[in-house]
Amino acid sequence: MTADLTQTPQQTAETFYLKDYTPFGFEVESVELTFKLAPSATRVVSKICFIPKPGTPDPRFFLHGEMLKLISARIDGVDVAPTVTPEGLTCDVPQQRFVWEAEVEIDPAGNTALEGLYMSGGMYCTQCEAEGFRKITYYPDRPDVMSIFTVRIEGDEEVMLSNGNPISKSDGLAVWQDPWPKPAYLFALVAGDLVNHPDTFTTKSGRKVELNIWVRHGDEDKCAFGMEALKKSMTWDEQAYGREYDLDIFNIVAVDDFNMGAMENKGLNIFNSSCVLASPETSTDANFERIEAIIAHEYFHNWTGNRITCRDWFQLCLKEGLTVFRDSQFTSDMRSAPVKRISDVIDLRARQFPEDQGPLSHPVRPEEFQEINNFYTATVYEKGAEVIGMLKRLVGDADYSKAVDLYFERHDGQACTIEDWLKVFEDATGRDLGQFKRWYSQAGTPRLTVAESFANGTYTLTFEQSTAPTPGQPDKDPRVIPIAVGLLGANGDEIRQTQVLEMTEAKQSFTFEGLATKPVPSILREFSAPVILERETSNAERAFLLAHDTDPFNRWEAGNALAREARVAMVLEGAAPDADYLDALTKLLRDDTLDPAFRALILQPPSQSDIAQTLHERGHTPDPQKIYDAAETLAQTLAQQLADSLPRLYADTTVTEAYTPDAVSAGNRALNARILTLLTRLDGGEQAARQYETADNMTQQYSALANLMKAEKGTVQSQAFFDQWQDDRLVMDKWFALQIAMAVPEATARTAAQLTRHPLFTLKNPNRFRAVMGALAGNHAGFHHANGAGYQLLADNLIALDGLNPQTTARMCTAFQSWKRYDNDRQALIAAQLQRIQTTAGLSRDTNEMVSRILDA
Ligand SMILES: [Zn+2]
Repeated sequence: MTADLTQTPQQTAETFYLKDYTPFGFEVESVELTFKLAPSATRVVSKICFIPKPGTPDPRFFLHGEMLKLISARIDGVDVAPTVTPEGLTCDVPQQRFVWEAEVEIDPAGNTALEGLYMSGGMYCTQCEAEGFRKITYYPDRPDVMSIFTVRIEGDEEVMLSNGNPISKSDGLAVWQDPWPKPAYLFALVAGDLVNHPDTFTTKSGRKVELNIWVRHGDEDKCAFGMEALKKSMTWDEQAYGREYDLDIFNIVAVDDFNMGAMENKGLNIFNSSCVLASPETSTDANFERIEAIIAHEYFHNWTGNRITCRDWFQLCLKEGLTVFRDSQFTSDMRSAPVKRISDVIDLRARQFPEDQGPLSHPVRPEEFQEINNFYTATVYEKGAEVIGMLKRLVGDADYSKAVDLYFERHDGQACTIEDWLKVFEDATGRDLGQFKRWYSQAGTPRLTVAESFANGTYTLTFEQSTAPTPGQPDKDPRVIPIAVGLLGANGDEIRQTQVLEMTEAKQSFTFEGLATKPVPSILREFSAPVILERETSNAERAFLLAHDTDPFNRWEAGNALAREARVAMVLEGAAPDADYLDALTKLLRDDTLDPAFRALILQPPSQSDIAQTLHERGHTPDPQKIYDAAETLAQTLAQQLADSLPRLYADTTVTEAYTPDAVSAGNRALNARILTLLTRLDGGEQAARQYETADNMTQQYSALANLMKAEKGTVQSQAFFDQWQDDRLVMDKWFALQIAMAVPEATARTAAQLTRHPLFTLKNPNRFRAVMGALAGNHAGFHHANGAGYQLLADNLIALDGLNPQTTARMCTAFQSWKRYDNDRQALIAAQLQRIQTTAGLSRDTNEMVSRILDA
């Protein structure tokens, strides 16, 4: 029987709830898949052995399947006629073990959504997380169904890869078998004309593993760094977590068209090429660091995600929060722990805090969704990692290790929940984590206010916590908040070392006794909890902490607070740039006993969006143009104050040795780039032009070009950059983004619009789309220009992309999530665009859910 079923599922969205979980009614004993590759008509033949599980609440045989053309279906060798819907099929099945066979036809070349099996640059590749496997064949596409996969690939591609170990290979055929049971979202297949960068790794128990990074011809020279990062990750996971790799081969493939950063498919990681390809000439220091972190992240998933997976998609943070936490530990060990911590907090505040305080706010473990792709969020990932960090801080390092060991021992091979995760901590430490669990169930960022008093040698800190209502959660209960506190004396000496106060009440006091004088507190050291700390304090005290705090995070935080207050005062009161702040910064900049990477971070001003958020939190309506003007004035004043020393500082910090991407040289270059930015304000781009001429690496070439563009002096260099790099897809993404990022507010939307008409702009490549639209949304004053052109341009492009790629469209809608911060005119302009998107005929389920949630604010 043949059913032609190529229409997309209906848009009327069903909502899924955590509380509705029921197990699948069948065991899947084994899965055999045969792929007969053809670009527009690939045949997938499946042979799956099912065993009914007696006593399951839902014994119905339902297999997910979307956009599939069913050619034939058989049970135990006999043709059957299942009932097929756009979401899948049901069928009468025997009450004992049976073999399901089906053949379907799919169209990889026509798959622009980049989910399931699709083509990118002439190669076949897959993306199955979260629910892409159902676009490959009929299957119980849910993470709690785990099985052993054997995959035959028939095609004339030179390289044909799947999960696990290679079993046989001949002309036109490759067979792979994965001995480890896995859910379908970890399935992967790659076939194409690829070349490899090979290496080997021997695990601590002596297993020799073949390693490969597979790339398109011409990219071979951009694999060495990724390979080193992979080997470092494998060693680190053995040392830090006792986790060894468990197959004979580990493959990484670089793909140009990819919705995500990378994917941890068992034994066959698939990477967005931007997250693996690196060379000094084409990648910046930031690219190198990110690549190292993402390779580590995907590799670490082999244990936290693959060997132990999620029971359902509500538990996504179980694998992502833990794996982000692990990759940040790795980066801290490989590079600088304080710099990593500060960078993570900058990122958390830029991406997660606005989400947590806006219409898209949701718990780390959501309890309902329409489209799971919309929950790959900063809250699930980054706040999920913060929650693990708090847990570790509360139980201590030794008990953390004990609990995690127990997790691996108890749950290897299982599909688990947050309850399982917390239970191993309770069993290993004897603690009750009932209240701590609220971090998983309550959305919103807690605010922590603090009052202090001092009498008779006793210093008292009184904290109060509260969390504003979030969608669906009007009332919140107090959470467990670990507050790391140290005390400093008047001369700047530390008189009490860091101590973790465990706050459990809505209001709670902690005392420190035996003090001669009132101390200066350093609160929330290392950013010990993802909260907003509100404390009335003076700029003099902030400057004191900036000069003396022994905790690097809080030292940076004091400088950051000074910068923020200076800008807020300029915006609200028309104040002059704060002299104390400028003096403190000048001192730090010249203090060469400090780590250059740290100094570079101190010099990095809070983002304009961050200032907008601060103003909003304090009950003001942010004016993006005024925020921009204040930033410009402050930077100009700082440059003038430093005028005498900038040329020397620039010369002193210029790295002249041959380029290496290590943390120390990268830190030097980061500081050097900050100084160049100030210098350009005084010399109109002379030094930047010289740097552009002599740069032999992308980091220096890019920072020179950025500064020239910012000074509106970069026309010649921008053209030269284009001529030099027009054939390099990843460098061209930088060229597109930079022009928009550096544009003055009134020119931002116009520049972005021109670039969407450039011959190298395409909706079909998510990286290029994000380069242009992400840069537009990221230029705060430009995107929010009062004429509304930025809003309209983004909406035009979201509407254009939605029919091709719903996932990337929906994610980019977050550019509008903070719209309620702004004035009525801007709100009206944004609402009109959101409504225009929402009423587009045939809008995807993904985008519809996002726009509706944002509009409901
Ligand atoms: Zn991940």
